Amino acid sequence: MHSIAIISVGGTIDKIYFDAKSAYEVGPPNIEKVLAELNLSITYRVNSLMRKDSLELTDDDRALIAKAVAEEPCSRILITHGTDTMVDTAQALRNITGKTIVLTGALEPALFKTSDAVFNIGCAVGAVQVLPPGIYIAMNGRIFTEGKVRKNLALNKFEEFGDNP
Ligand code: GLU
Repeated sequence: MHSIAIISVGGTIDKIYFDAKSAYEVGPPNIEKVLAELNLSITYRVNSLMRKDSLELTDDDRALIAKAVAEEPCSRILITHGTDTMVDTAQALRNITGKTIVLTGALEPALFKTSDAVFNIGCAVGAVQVLPPGIYIAMNGRIFTEGKVRKNLALNKFEEFGDNP
């Protein structure tokens, strides 16, 4: 059994830009490249489930993601995902128990030098190994719990909300 199962569904983290008009496509999971360059002591397997900007994810897509997570034999699961609807997918996983699920992504493609992808992946890899079962989002240097996190579009960052932000 691997230490971590990784499921990629797309988002900016995997985007490849082609020209000055900013045409892009969502490419293969960049987390594979990022992790391959590090001398890691963990084992992992990457399942490239879909390649979509998260604004294009449908309820059916979220049902597919939930099915993949539910059927995954590994109990520690990292999902790379677009940030715009990451909270919605986290919510769609609510009924899955007994697994530690951490979603992360990046506000710039992992292929960009200034991208937050490597940092976010590092946070998520650490978090998924130590957190108790539950659903979490690792973004902006914090680990958020599902149901208490939203993306602040004006600030372009994730923030906690609820009783004790
Ligand atoms: N529309 C993009 C998405 O959510 C936003 C950027 C990103 O991936 O973080 O897929």
